[in-house]
This record gives sequence, structure tokens and C-alpha cells, in this order.
Amino acid sequence: MAQQLRKALVCGAGGFIGAHLVRRLKREGFWVRGVDLKMPEFAPTEADEFLKADLRDPAVCRAAVSGVEDAYQLAADMGGAGFVFTGQHDAEIMHNSALVNLNMVHAAAEAGVRRIFYSSSACIYPEYNQNDPENPDCAEDSAYPAAPDSEYGWEKLFSERMYLAYRRNCGIEVRIARFHNIFGPEGTWEGGREKAPAAVCRKVAEAPDGSEIEIWGDGRQTRSFLYIDECLEGVRRLMESDFTGPVNIGSEEMVTIDALARMTMEIAGKRLRLKHVPGPLGVRGRTSDNRLIRERLGWAPSRPLNEGLLVTYRWIAAQVAARRRDAALSAASGEA
Ligand code: NAD
Repeated sequence: MAQQLRKALVCGAGGFIGAHLVRRLKREGFWVRGVDLKMPEFAPTEADEFLKADLRDPAVCRAAVSGVEDAYQLAADMGGAGFVFTGQHDAEIMHNSALVNLNMVHAAAEAGVRRIFYSSSACIYPEYNQNDPENPDCAEDSAYPAAPDSEYGWEKLFSERMYLAYRRNCGIEVRIARFHNIFGPEGTWEGGREKAPAAVCRKVAEAPDGSEIEIWGDGRQTRSFLYIDECLEGVRRLMESDFTGPVNIGSEEMVTIDALARMTMEIAGKRLRLKHVPGPLGVRGRTSDNRLIRERLGWAPSRPLNEGLLVTYRWIAAQVAARRRDAALSAASGEA
């Protein structure tokens, strides 16, 4: 008799991490249902079934969880510093993402989903532990007393607690990861929601050699960046483990934003000046602390930043080149 495929649901399957996760689950042999407001932007979805629908609607959540054993909840109203730290989107971020989480975890518990993964964020960590760019503290147990630096972080922390409450009271297994700056090809690279690595790659790709690019702040703020493949490896290992979390999934290779820009210029073979301009920033320093993931999963990300950056730069440079070709063609056809 043919073996039944394990059925998984990916919420946010039209987004960056969700689209990659669908691909990974398909490679592993799962039957996958994706749900999102939009289809993936850069490649057709590989999901067996795709619901283009709004997870703020409880009926959509009920349809989404029907018949699945594993659920991955990645849908959120999110973006980089230009979206999260300006303060202009706080109400929509909190309202939209909280509604999705409230409805999803409830529908999953009611339907008897075996296990649900929730993507939390490094943005839940208290601002007071991240003022020193050389020594930020992002150990999992440093989350309280809570003081995230954005409403996005507060919503994530609230939702972490809600998933844990459903685990305690409703018997659903929960897995929670706190992602730290995930990057890679097929991520948002323009339009205001892009994050630092994509923004820097785009600026470097667009700039003529010898010119300058703008960097928000003094460039000495620190971060770590995790390549998408290692993020998915961590998600899958966590999901198959008996550890609930929350646990960091991030890189411990901390760099300044100026260093990130210099690394990108080296990859591109360009010499550019960095012009520091005011902009939305977030905390002064942040990096992953991987002691807990090593201890509980016997694994932690290890790939050097410049390897993932090389792949990402090439992909973004190709998008920039394609955009230029299109603009030139439409200008030429306008002239004709
Ligand atoms: P993304 O914006 O590319 O993907 C999120 C997807 O959720 C989008 O496609 C969006 O359309 C969808 N969505 C939003 N509201 C929805 C709704 N009401 N109904 C259905 N779909 C809806 O973001 P991503 O980078 O892929 O992040 C995935 C998850 O990981 C998010 O929860 C995010 O907060 C979390 N996270 C990401 C990072 C990162 O560096 N990328 C870091 C920390 C946490």
C-alpha cells in the first residue's frame, strides 16, 4: 500500500521565508498547503495547494488547517527598519499580525493539528541589553523584564505567550523560534520593506564604481545575518525535536553595517564611499546567542556571512540589471 504523505501547512507561503520553506518541505516529501494574501513574487509556488486568502479571517484559518498534521505560522505584517522603526505602521503591524496569530492558533488547536511552529523575532529582546554595539545580550532567558524597541517586537512577544498558553491549556504541541535577520535570494529588495542586507546589495548594485551609497546612522551599529538555507535547517530540526523553545535561530557572526557594506563592495568588485545619513535604526547592537540551540538541538548555524552574501548579491544585481533593461526597452518603444 502506498505510504500517506505527511501534510504540512505554511502560512505566509507567498513571502520570503515561507516560499523557501514550501520548497524545502516538498524536497523532504511532504504534501504542502500554502496560504498567503499574495503568490510568491519571484518564482511559482511549489505548494500542492495554495489558498490566496486573508488569515485575519477565522474561516480562512479553519480551511487552512483542515487535514494537516504540521503547521508553520510565518504570516506577519513586517519589513525592515524603514517599515518597523518609523512608527508610522505600528497600529497595522499589531492589529494584523495579532489577528492572524489569534485565529491561527485557535483553529489549529480546535482541528487537532499535531504541532505548530511560530516564527518570533530577535526584536522581542529588551532594548536595555542592546545599547552596547560590541556586547549585546540576546540569550533567550534575557527576554524579561520585557522592553522590546518596537511594537512589532511587542506583538511577537504577546503571540509567543499565546502559543505557549494554547500548549498548556489545549494540548497542541508548539515550537517557537526567534529569527535574527534572515536574508537570501527571492527576498524583498526594494520598496521600503527590504532589510539591511538586501538594501545594501541593491545600493551597491545600482551605484556606478567610484560613486557613493547612503548608509543609515553612523554605520557602527552591529547585527548578525543568517542565510535562508540555515534558517530552514534550524526550523526543521526544531520542528522534529522535542524542544518547544523559544530558541534563537540566527548567526553569531556580528558585523557593523559599514562592514556589511564593505563586504558587499568586495563581492561586487566596486570601490564606493559610504555617506552616513539619518534614518530609522533600531537597537545599537544585536547578534544571536546560540548556546541554547547547540545544547538542545546539537546544532547551530555555521556558514560564513560572505558566502550567503555572495549568492544574494548576485541575485539582487540580476534584478537590478533586469529592471534597467526593461526601463531602456520601454523608453525605446516610447521613442519609436
Ligand atoms: P514576508 O513579509 O516576506 O512574509 C510574510 C508573509 O505573510 C507575506 O507574504 C504576507 O503577504 C503574508 N501575510 C501578511 N498578513 C497576512 C494575512 N492577513 N493573511 C495571509 N497572509 C498574510 O516576511 P519573511 O521575511 O518571510 O518573514 C516570515 C516570518 O518570520 C514573519 O512572521 C516575520 O515576522 C518572521 N521574522 C522574519 C525575520 C527576517 O529577517 N526575515 C526576522 C525575524 C522574524
